[in-house]
Amino acid sequence: MELSAEQHQFAETIRTFCAQELGTLAQRDAVTAGGTLSNSPQVLARLAELGWLGVSLPEEYGGGGAGFVDECVFLEETSRGLAPITGYSTGLTAAQTYLKWGSELQKKTIVSNLAAGRLEAISLSEPGAGSDLGGVKVKSVRDGDEYVINGQKTWCSAAHVAEHLLVLTREDNSGTKHQGLTLLMVPTETPGLDIREIETMEPHTVNDVFFTDVRVPASNVVGEAKNAWKQLMRGLSVERVIIAAMSLGSAQRSLDDAIAYISEREQFGRKISSFQALRHRIADLATDVAFARSFVYDVAHRIDEGLEDSLAQESAMAKMRCTEIAKNTALEAMQMMGGYGYAREYGMEAQVRKSLAPPIYGGTNEIQREIIAKSLL
Ligand SMILES: Cc1cc2nc3c(=O)[nH]c(=O)nc-3n(C[C@H](O)[C@H](O)[C@H](O)COP(=O)(O)OP(=O)(O)OC[C@H]3O[C@@H](n4cnc5c(N)ncnc54)[C@H](O)[C@@H]3O)c2cc1C
Repeated sequence: MELSAEQHQFAETIRTFCAQELGTLAQRDAVTAGGTLSNSPQVLARLAELGWLGVSLPEEYGGGGAGFVDECVFLEETSRGLAPITGYSTGLTAAQTYLKWGSELQKKTIVSNLAAGRLEAISLSEPGAGSDLGGVKVKSVRDGDEYVINGQKTWCSAAHVAEHLLVLTREDNSGTKHQGLTLLMVPTETPGLDIREIETMEPHTVNDVFFTDVRVPASNVVGEAKNAWKQLMRGLSVERVIIAAMSLGSAQRSLDDAIAYISEREQFGRKISSFQALRHRIADLATDVAFARSFVYDVAHRIDEGLEDSLAQESAMAKMRCTEIAKNTALEAMQMMGGYGYAREYGMEAQVRKSLAPPIYGGTNEIQREIIAKSLL
């Protein structure tokens, strides 16, 4: 699938923006409090001003009205350009569920929030329910015109900076583990909600979320009560391709930086880029990235054609392979940059850290392999 001239132009414009505004470590430090924020309000505000946030979301709710391919261009290029907006992809994922199942008010709220640079979060995982999400225990009880929520969620990206959490709760225990689940839209300012950082190898990204008698109106149910599983299972292809497109951008960045570095560095009286051991690795990595790009945009294009529900295998392949390519490219780039690859100044250590979580979240890559195998065997 070939990008249109406008899409190439969009990619080029984002690339130039990132190079000019976020091209140096000093610039990135300035908008992330010295690298301690994974979401920069300033950068989100600038991107909103430019009209690039929510580019693929429907215009009637405040989005840009373009296609998912355009969204992938945005995700790839902002990831390549090191834009500190990690929560945007989480919001975009949440938006897919709201758009399919939410009320008109929910759709308008979420889409216009994202387009304005405000973030949204999605809270499914619990301490005892990760890959096996059907094991969720956070309880919701209908009480008149309200729901009361109690329990603990974990690993919630961007909860600390989001406007709402899209929370998977158990309303009914009487059926199978995939029955009786209800999705609720919970404003993060609601009394009884306690959001606490989980310290990881990255700047503040993920959180534990504790619910103590948290009350939301019954109109905050997203879709149909007790039917969340079916709702969540639709839309997974888009989530996987969102992660794939960001990983593609990240892999491209590691490759760009490795090429730039080895083209300058001299040892033994020559550029280290003249050593075959490094040249062949660059060739392999560039091949991986080129294959990944073709595949991701092909799947994105098919999503734009309305085939989303038949892309379980392809979207799992895209998520699994692109996240692994990004991780391998960052690790290989670090090795090719020698000691400097390990230094904060050169940026590759951040690329390595950033590449380790995507094979785990959004459904681990073991689970993606199960999905692929299931489609074949
Ligand atoms: C940085 C980060 C951000 C995250 N953001 C969010 C978020 O915003 N919202 C949210 O709800 N969650 C989020 N998560 C949680 C993430 O989705 C889970 O970590 C993931 O689904 C795995 O669950 P777990 O950690 O409980 O691991 P487990 O499910 O316990 O898995 C442990 C290991 O066992 C393997 N395994 C488990 N079951 C199988 C199986 N059937 N076959 C083969 N292997 C298997 C897994 O692949 C893994 O290697 C995030 C996680 C991270 C690290």
